This record gives sequence, structure tokens and C-alpha cells, in this order.
Amino acid sequence: MSDRIKITLGEEAIPSHWYNLQADLPSPLSPPLHPGTKQPIGPDDLAPLFPMSLIAQEVSTERDIEIPLPVRDAYRAWRPTPLYRARGLERALDTPARIYYKYEGTSPAGSHKPNTAIPQAFYNREAGIRRITTETGAGQWGSSLSHAGALFGLEIKVYMVRVSFDQKPYRKAMMQTYGATCIASPSPETAAGRAVLEANPESTGSLGIAISEAVEEAASNEGTNYALGSVLNHVLMHQSVIGSEAIAQFEQVDDYPDIVVGCTGGGSNFAGIAFPFIGRKLRGGPDIKAVAAEPAACPSLTRGRYTYDFGDTAQLTPLVKMHTLGSAFVPSGFHAGGLRYHGMAPLVSHCVDLGLVEPVSFTQIECFEAGTLFARCEHIIPAPEANHAIKAVIAEANRCKEEGASRAILFNLCGHGHFDMQAYIDYHAGRLPEERYDESEVAMALAGLPAAS
Ligand SMILES: *Cc1c(COP(=O)(O)O)cnc(C)c1O
Repeated sequence: MSDRIKITLGEEAIPSHWYNLQADLPSPLSPPLHPGTKQPIGPDDLAPLFPMSLIAQEVSTERDIEIPLPVRDAYRAWRPTPLYRARGLERALDTPARIYYKYEGTSPAGSHKPNTAIPQAFYNREAGIRRITTETGAGQWGSSLSHAGALFGLEIKVYMVRVSFDQKPYRKAMMQTYGATCIASPSPETAAGRAVLEANPESTGSLGIAISEAVEEAASNEGTNYALGSVLNHVLMHQSVIGSEAIAQFEQVDDYPDIVVGCTGGGSNFAGIAFPFIGRKLRGGPDIKAVAAEPAACPSLTRGRYTYDFGDTAQLTPLVKMHTLGSAFVPSGFHAGGLRYHGMAPLVSHCVDLGLVEPVSFTQIECFEAGTLFARCEHIIPAPEANHAIKAVIAEANRCKEEGASRAILFNLCGHGHFDMQAYIDYHAGRLPEERYDESEVAMALAGLPAAS
């Protein structure tokens, strides 16, 4: 029997503005540096890759940035997303905690990624761009940008990390259905890809390599831009619709979270749910504890260094200050492909450094255990990435039980796992390796950090 409570909002409650945490930070972000000169970059340095409207959002310190009407119209296809009270999970854990989750799996791509794919496609189209290159890990971002490209009439080319390209053929089919081209990275089509293949023809690829390929192609082609699905300030800002809607939904049930949890790959869905709450706290509102859950096999926040590093493997991108495992780090092929990035969003890293966010890490088997329990109590089969957030929520709920404390816990169920059933097959067959990251490999990658650090 299910007494799961669904808290919905009408279309009129789709936020009119994105929330920008940069307006409320007690100290500003460190500036991105030019990869050659190591001096702070200006807007013109980014102009070969991004439209000026997005570059302006990247550096803006305005608190509320208006969402253009065509973007709000597109959001209407699935927003506002529901907030659920997880009574079934609460009962299974026998916890006094009140557990809530915001469900982003109702979007066309099945995750939070369309929240930024749509505005990015819109602004590029407005700037007269015809074509966008990008990378994708598990395929969520590639499908989201392909969908947005179809909506706004843009040609999309996706470099998909080889290990996922082989593991997830349905994601590739989805991109093709929306009219995009998807190829495996490393590919022979770019200098960056050819260099990796020469050194290691069997390379399973990485997000860092795929970014190099997509950036190289965009930078050397007039009329082609590049889009990133996470990490950048404007991407995190677009995701704030998640947290802003959640605030309105909590008002409806007259409750407020004590703890806000998200999983972190590049940091965007976590920022989307947590930053609007952190912003309120910084402006004198209620205190909350924000928890970022990452995989033990790619532990940038818990084991990486907070320093300047490249966003990609070929060192084409600006240097940004972030928690990093080194841009040469190639994480193992574990199943939460969306969490397989060597770095972290500078805004999330800055918040961890300021003590505003607490990072935790979990191994993949304990996360699949958590996700399987969740599915049996709460109907939805979570994306493997989201299982990390669920594992962190269960840890917090168990702490509430030990302490006899009735706290409200909110987490972002950032996507469903319908395209990730091979991972669940491997889990049920006992074939999932319990991978932790390799200490010596990380040491090697960190030793290669650029001189600016
Ligand atoms: C891409 C993705 C992630 C990781 O990216 P973030 O920027 O950290 O959110 C996590 N979960 C899902 C479902 C994804 O598609």
C-alpha cells in the first residue's frame, strides 16, 4: 500500500527568474585563467565557444535573472516537477525523519539536464548559431541537448565517452531520433582524439577527452558553438528552477528542509536543488545542511585538491579553481557515468571550501542497494547517479533515528534509471565490482597539475 504524498504546482508556478548564488556569496569566485598566459580571461576569450548572453550569465552577480518566455514555454512540457514525501521509505527505515524528494525524471530526457539544454539552445539560436558540439558521459546530456536542438532548429553533434557508447546503445538511438549525430570518443575526427588513440588504441575515453574533442571542433569552425551540461556557473544557475520550485512546494505543506542532498558529478543538479536554500541561509534565512554525495571511485570533493586545473584532458579550456583529481585522471568504468568527471563546478567547490556544503562519498554497490530499496518503497527506479544521493539520505535518516531527531530531509531524484538497466542487471548478478579510486593513479594525475596552481 502506498501513502506517498505528491505535492504539485500549477504551470503558473514555473519560476520567472533563475537564482544566481554569486549574488549572495560571502567571498567571490576566483577568476578563470587563460590556459596560455595564466592571466584572468575576458569575455572575448570565450566568444569562439559561447554566445555573449551566456558569457554574461557566467560572470553575473545579479541575484535574479529573468527566464525568457520561449524557455518558460518549453519548460511547460514537464515543469513544475512533483515533490514527493517518501512515506514508504520512511517506514522501511523506521526513521523519525521526514524525507522528501524532487523528481526530475519527468523531463523528456528523463533527468534534470533539459533545464539547461533548453536555455543554451535558445540563446545560441538567438545569436545566429546553427550548430553545437558537445560531449556526453552516460548519454543524459547528449539526449537533452539533442531534444533542445530539435526544438530550436539546431544541428547537434555529440562526442560520447567510449565506455558509455558501448554500454548504452539506447541513449545513442535517442539522440539520433531527435536528429543529432553521436560518435564515440576518443574519435579519429579531432587532433585531441587522435592523440589519445595513438597513445592507447583501447582507450575507454573520459569526459575530459570528449570535452577536448567538442571544444576543438567548435573553436575551429565558424557558426559552430560548444555547450557544456554541467560545471559552469550559468549551467548551475539554470538548474535553480529545481530548488526554487521546491521552496514553493514546502510552503504548501508548511514544512522546510533541515538537510538538502544531491549527488555530484559536475555539480549542477546538486546546485540546482541546494543553492536556492543556501542563498536564503546566506541572506539570514533558516539554516540548512547541504550534503553533496559523490562516488568513491571518482572522489573529487572528498579526495581531490582545491586548485587551478584544466576542464579537459588536452588542456584547451581555461584554468578554473575547483576540487580536482587532475585532468589526466581517467576514472574506472563504473556505472554512474554521469559522475565520472575529474573536476567539480567552481561554485560547488567554493561552497565546500567556505563550509557551506559537506561532501561525502560512497561505493557503487552500497548505492545500488540504496536505490533498490528506494524502488521497492517509492515506485521509481532511480538513475545510478541518483542512488548516491539516496544512500546519503539513508545515512542521514539513520542518524535521525539514533538521535531521536525528527528532521526534514530533501533530496533531488535527478533522473530515472530506465536506460541504465544493464547496471541493475550487473548488480543483481553480483557482477558489479566494488571499485575505489586508485591512490597511485590519482597521485600521478595530481602531479601533472598546471604550474598556475
Ligand atoms: C549528468 C547527470 C548527473 C551528474 O551531473 P551533475 O552536473 O553533477 O548533476 C547526475 N545525475 C544524472 C541523472 C545525470 O544525468
